[in-house]
Amino acid sequence: MPPFTVFAVRLVFLPAAPAAPQPPPVAPAAPRPARVGTVVVRALRASGRPIVGAFVFGYGAAPDGTILGHEFAGTIAEVGAAVRGDWKVGERVTALPITSCQQCEACTGGLPGLCPQNIFTGTTLLVQGAYAQYVAARAGMLQRLPAGVPFAQGAMVEPLAVSHHAVEMAALRPGASVLVIGAGPIGAGVVLFARLAGARHIVVSERFSARRERALALGATAVIDPSAEDVAGRFAAHAGCRPQVVFECVGNPGLLRHAVEVAGIRARIVVAGVCLLDDTFNPLTGLLKEVTIQFSQCYTEHNFAAVIDAMARGEAKPEPMHTGTVGFAELPAVFESLRAASPHCKVLIDPDR
Ligand SMILES: [Zn+2]
Repeated sequence: MPPFTVFAVRLVFLPAAPAAPQPPPVAPAAPRPARVGTVVVRALRASGRPIVGAFVFGYGAAPDGTILGHEFAGTIAEVGAAVRGDWKVGERVTALPITSCQQCEACTGGLPGLCPQNIFTGTTLLVQGAYAQYVAARAGMLQRLPAGVPFAQGAMVEPLAVSHHAVEMAALRPGASVLVIGAGPIGAGVVLFARLAGARHIVVSERFSARRERALALGATAVIDPSAEDVAGRFAAHAGCRPQVVFECVGNPGLLRHAVEVAGIRARIVVAGVCLLDDTFNPLTGLLKEVTIQFSQCYTEHNFAAVIDAMARGEAKPEPMHTGTVGFAELPAVFESLRAASPHCKVLIDPDR
């Protein structure tokens, strides 16, 4: 028996994808009794732009009938039996899309995102996602949204928590010179939180002009087109040094090598991009500079809370990342368009639209 399930009141069927992957959301119309230990959230807005990982794992590998969507915010519609904590119907929340074993080394260490048994919401039939009017969330993973944080921001807490975690893993010092490789949703969020962490120079290397513009709006101090410019040379010209921190936010083979090559002495390389293929680099290049390579995956509850706090204080303003809002009727076409290069960053789904 899955630990919780999702019920929706609206059906969405997408047209068949041209390639092998099957279309995303199929939301069963049904009542919505909350299972033990869960609440049901009426997902007023769910972020529709699949992040790289979700795109690969969710869209490419999810079984037929899987309802995608792991970035959502809404109001609690129902509280299941045995839910601990003072959760009430009508409360505004978001949640970590994590169903972990709660017993392993990762879980007991407060790192449920690293649990080998973790089921990520919206990637399997066991825990259906938020491309629906209602989504179930494990009560232990809920986070309240203060009144000052609108749902449009709340639905972006999850991807921003990925970026927040990556910046945290960088142990970034105020005044640091930072290179961000890739300005998709995660790289864009890294720019935002690197700025809040006090980085002096935040240089973004990104092929697409719309993403470079977005990075500047979020706090980048310079942008580079790596398809036309020398990244190391342009960085040095801007910052007067080599990168002290490099964020790899793309996940393509060859970029780890690139990061090691352009990094400065004792630089820290944070790998947040999801690369599914083997990759190589010359260890001597890293050894001669004593670089640190730090992988960064998901987030913790602390990252969610910190992102929400930064939003409530008005410090984290992710609006440049919100590039559109659609209803379910428009979702299939927008989803397909996102499979190619797109000017979009985060498209929000409004079920009432
Ligand atoms: Zn576990």
